[in-house]
Amino acid sequence: MSAITELMRPDLRDFAGYASARRSAASGRVWLNANESPLASPADASGRLNRYPDPQPAALRERLATLYGVSPAQLMLTRGSDEGIDLLVRGFCRAGIDPVLIAPPCFGMYAVSARLQNAPLIEVPLRDEGEAWRFDLDGIAEAALAKRARLVFLCSPGNPTGQALSSAEIEGLLDRLQGRALLVIDEAYAEYSREPSSSLLLAKYPALVVLRTLSKAYALAGARIGALLGDPALVQFLRNLSAPYPIAAPSAELALSGLTEAGVIEARRRVEGVRRERERLRQALSVAPGVRRVYASQGNYLLVRFDDAEAMLSRWLAAGIVVRDMRAMPGLGDALRISIGTPAENDQLLAALRQEACA
Ligand SMILES: *Cc1c(COP(=O)(O)O)cnc(C)c1O
Repeated sequence: MSAITELMRPDLRDFAGYASARRSAASGRVWLNANESPLASPADASGRLNRYPDPQPAALRERLATLYGVSPAQLMLTRGSDEGIDLLVRGFCRAGIDPVLIAPPCFGMYAVSARLQNAPLIEVPLRDEGEAWRFDLDGIAEAALAKRARLVFLCSPGNPTGQALSSAEIEGLLDRLQGRALLVIDEAYAEYSREPSSSLLLAKYPALVVLRTLSKAYALAGARIGALLGDPALVQFLRNLSAPYPIAAPSAELALSGLTEAGVIEARRRVEGVRRERERLRQALSVAPGVRRVYASQGNYLLVRFDDAEAMLSRWLAAGIVVRDMRAMPGLGDALRISIGTPAENDQLLAALRQEACA
């Protein structure tokens, strides 16, 4: 049995999933196998939505595989990375037995999915090193092995903390885990980072999984398209667990048209703009009164500590500006997370901040 198969839930290893009409269909001209309407909806300009979609739309899968530098067999399309996270926990963790390891403060969905599956949660906190946050990679490796974690979720760049892992750090951790736990690198913000994607390591490490999404740099959060990159056997396994038709046809078409060569160039151009604005905001916030600390960030957001976060939050709210309140997170009792907006929006944010300083 391969190391990956050994990590799968034993009761699901040979589960073939739902045999949907699309999955079992070969070729045909008269479609009478799925109880669909033979006529399109009058509301449907495309005239094609009366049919169930391809569970893994081939053109989009191939396009994303090319974009991320993997083969289509290494890529599963998901309804956002949230679905990838959920499928991983369901497929690899026996309820009440197999733990999930996270490094808080981090994205909340890992703990939510673990909770829904009743998978024990192991927490190895990030280290606050003043200018930036750092993963405790030794602590993560030791805890994962000692407590037999099945999944290690690391977000790089980290949300909300902004730090990113280098390929050497990820490789070091994979070596130490020795395939005894899956290492999942959530790269929702990879486009904004200086570090290369860890998908370069997939060929060498079958226990590595990388999550990508079109929700951030590709501006398609509403379309719900993500991709899980991993070993072909793992991809096939998760496909068997997934909903029969996870990817809505209009979303797949929209995503594909956003990923033309020109679309990719435009996304990269915008990422450059976000990086410039991130630096401008970071500098302006660092010297603003009432600001305790601005962390370095490789994402499209800044994590900021304030003398009085409550006052800042309400001042911005009064100006119609909504930032993310992080104060409920352990260790972040004075912190807010600010997404990088347009230059005009960022100016408004700074203007409202200075107003408070004068008040
Ligand atoms: C925004 C975000 C995602 C994206 O989730 P989608 O379901 O793809 O929209 C994933 N991981 C992290 C850490 C995020 O911040």
